[in-house]
Amino acid sequence: MFNAILVANRGEIACRIIRSARRLGVRTIAVYSEADRDAPHVDMASDAILIGPPPALDSYLNIDRILDAIDETGADAVHPGYGFLSENAEFAEILAEEGVAFIGPNPHAIRIMGDKIESKKLAEEIGVSTVPGTSEPVQDLDQVRIIAAEIGYPVMVKASAGGGGKGMRLVMEESQLEEGLRASTAEAEASFGDDRVFVEKYIQNPRHIEIQVLADQHGNVVHLGERECSIQRRHQKVVEEAPSPFVDEDLRKRMGDQAIMLAEAVDYVSAGTVEFIVDPDRNFYFLEMNTRLQVEHPVTEEVTGLDLVEQMIRIAAGEELGFTQEEVKIQSWAIETRVYAEDPVRGFLPSIGRLSRYREPVTGVFGKIKTVRVDSGVSEGDMVTRFYDPMLAKLITVGRNRDEALSRMQWALDEYLITGINHNLGFLGALMSHPRFATGNLSTNFIADEFGDRFLPADATYDEPLRMAAIAVALRQLEIARNSQLVGLTLEWDEVEKSYPTAPTEWVVILNDEYHDAQVERDGSEYVIRLADTEYRVESDWQPGGALFVGKINGQDTCLQIERTDIGYGLYHRGFRAGARVLSPEAAAILREMPEKISADLGKELVSPMPGLLVSVEVAIGQSVRVGDPLAVVEAMKMENMLVAEADGVVATIPLTPGDSVNLGQVILTFE
Ligand code: ADP
Repeated sequence: MFNAILVANRGEIACRIIRSARRLGVRTIAVYSEADRDAPHVDMASDAILIGPPPALDSYLNIDRILDAIDETGADAVHPGYGFLSENAEFAEILAEEGVAFIGPNPHAIRIMGDKIESKKLAEEIGVSTVPGTSEPVQDLDQVRIIAAEIGYPVMVKASAGGGGKGMRLVMEESQLEEGLRASTAEAEASFGDDRVFVEKYIQNPRHIEIQVLADQHGNVVHLGERECSIQRRHQKVVEEAPSPFVDEDLRKRMGDQAIMLAEAVDYVSAGTVEFIVDPDRNFYFLEMNTRLQVEHPVTEEVTGLDLVEQMIRIAAGEELGFTQEEVKIQSWAIETRVYAEDPVRGFLPSIGRLSRYREPVTGVFGKIKTVRVDSGVSEGDMVTRFYDPMLAKLITVGRNRDEALSRMQWALDEYLITGINHNLGFLGALMSHPRFATGNLSTNFIADEFGDRFLPADATYDEPLRMAAIAVALRQLEIARNSQLVGLTLEWDEVEKSYPTAPTEWVVILNDEYHDAQVERDGSEYVIRLADTEYRVESDWQPGGALFVGKINGQDTCLQIERTDIGYGLYHRGFRAGARVLSPEAAAILREMPEKISADLGKELVSPMPGLLVSVEVAIGQSVRVGDPLAVVEAMKMENMLVAEADGVVATIPLTPGDSVNLGQVILTFE
């Protein structure tokens, strides 16, 4: 076994690797940039070395600095995690020359599989099914036109060096081909310094299903079943689960066999993932192989009971796999959601700032299986910077079946508390409560179909808003009850008497601008609340000021987040946000008579939803546009974002020119 493992990564995955190494009794070395001095992975490791300034190129991606850290600490192995240097064949080669073990595959496998064109060629040669299309780079528009016509539209133009959904363009028809080719090539060059692109058929309504493989240095290769990662936004995974609700024993075996064939073809060693795209008729096609630990590996760990990081370490140390294919059993169901620092309301742009509050849901074990697991790399008070990936944590829930894992996920998301930055917990809550998700009828278009390109909490499909109104009444009652116990501290008793001689029995709840009459009475430990002929029995020991409401509503366990505002409450549940005010009937009657505030008309301008670079303007002054027409392209974080018309109109002015940099909220063009 190794003496010391250097973890060449940060965030949750660095913490995750340290945990397994520690259990094996191996010393761990963390590396960190100046932005990460106080990061959890630095605390957790046996030793930590500062490797440079915040930008990744100067620290986590700087091979020389990492080699220095290895020298300094005497580490005899390196775990690269995912991202950064994990799929850098040169890094693996240098380590081999230095006699340091790379906890991952051989450089040859990394090189071939890191190139979508090369790996597709290899897959074709050995009889693995691939997506119809080219397995050579394409450049010339005329040539691409011929190929695309042969394959049949729609087609995908993809960067050979691609990753993270970058450099990929969907082309629905020939007229979009030129733009698709240009955008994909440009993004490939900007992101990877490699402008080779290829064309393949766009598989409609597909599912993304991948096979986890594990191979040792003695020629043993097994697969650990599949993960379904169809819930994606812009081709990036958001939710993953194992097993897949779409895969039966026969399909699992066929996909597993092909994954193993491919791993064997490159003498694969360590953990790796073969990604497939599966059409609605269960035809599957090889997409790519990721030669590293995947973000979503925990769901496989939970259903198989194996620790993948431990397996990788043992394999790199020369041990033989301790089990056979027949011994791999899928014992439960696991779902993972990725918690991001981003703003779903503003098109999911990354959000930065301080985590003023950060509380993870309760984790635990029930019977033989874990129920809730959180893999995180942040703690309360940490800064989330613009330098690294905005993923804060992964939330994993497990159950005996999918329903159980799903209901645990819904609960855990409601329990997860993050303030100080924008995050996607509400969006995840809405996803997990979506009736279509529950049916398992997934596709990679799920988010685009059901939510579009942003998420407004008010649109979340919550089935019973009156339950929220009832809770708001209970909160108000609990506040009054609490206040009356504080007599002499904050209020004189006669003040309390005057305002509420007895706890009120009549309220009006204004829930998202709708008025509801409510009657309330106390019955033992419960409040019995009547709203529009429905009775809600609410019981909770919520304390005023508490951010989490945990209680029973009509006997059903319920968890909600509460935000006390000046005039009422913000209630958050399963992605739904309700603004609630609880008023006396008299106060509500007065409020009804007040004139409504008129908000500014923003429809006459196109403003930039993010800071970035204005790449192009797609319209001219005087041009009529219709809803959905492209207006301009803004580049931010190396991604091109097309801004489209939200209403019909005529372009009046264009104050900016392509090449200008734009601020958040800056006007790009105006309408008549
Ligand atoms: P990356 O390496 O950038 O993640 P992948 O090739 O793994 O790119 O593809 C990412 C996602 O893009 C897939 O999960 C799928 O949703 C979509 N995708 C890729 N190729 C196709 C295709 N030919 N047809 C339909 N969707 C595709």
